[in-house]
Amino acid sequence: MKEKDRPRIGIMGGTFDPIHIGHLILGETAYEQFDLDKVLFMPAGNPPHKKNRKGRATDEERVEMVRRAIGGNDHFALSLIEMNEDGYTYTYRTLERMRQENAAADYYFIIGADSLYNFDTWMEPGRICQAAKIVVATRDHTEDESLDYEMQRLSAKYGGVFLKLDSLNIDISSQMLRTWIEENRTIKYYVPDCVIDFIQGNQIYQ
Ligand code: ATP
Ligand code: MG
Repeated sequence: MKEKDRPRIGIMGGTFDPIHIGHLILGETAYEQFDLDKVLFMPAGNPPHKKNRKGRATDEERVEMVRRAIGGNDHFALSLIEMNEDGYTYTYRTLERMRQENAAADYYFIIGADSLYNFDTWMEPGRICQAAKIVVATRDHTEDESLDYEMQRLSAKYGGVFLKLDSLNIDISSQMLRTWIEENRTIKYYVPDCVIDFIQGNQIYQ
């Protein structure tokens, strides 16, 4: 099969607590820039000691928020591969499992700059790089040169392909939104309305 005939699958992993437009814009931009066939939104399972924490959404609620947020975009899909009862899944294992299940596809794992800077601390970075190309979005107004340097350094260290996402800096984090909700500040336009309705209806993060 020619390289370009292989399905290209983007993976947007995160805790999505809650999902916000930053995540959605990253997925959409990667879809367009890398000519992806689809982008999987993959909520990470929480380990038992982190489940049902006060001020946080449950696993089920996080999944439902993602489901709602991506509804209506037919090249976005939900992947529950990392949601399991005993929690904790390692990215390298998930990616290797996905490759086993569909070896004909190429995987594009989408991360923000903060994740790039702690990539060294992830379990088995080399195996992650074997399984997927890493798509990196800027964040926290990181200088381009710094990001490029880190991408090259990691690429040399782990033999991976690191690709820069051509996206704007998006000053949003779930942490910021959780604080705003707690303080009764509006999060309208930072999070899709259907997700806000769900947060309010279930009194999450209050
Ligand atoms: P929290 O504040 O709880 O850490 P978050 O906003 O960082 O939440 P995560 O679910 O932790 O969201 O992030 C999932 C992935 O999306 C990570 O790779 C992260 O770097 C990336 N990401 C999230 N928000 C942005 C953003 N605004 N710009 C660029 N990348 C982002
Ligand atoms: Mg984060």
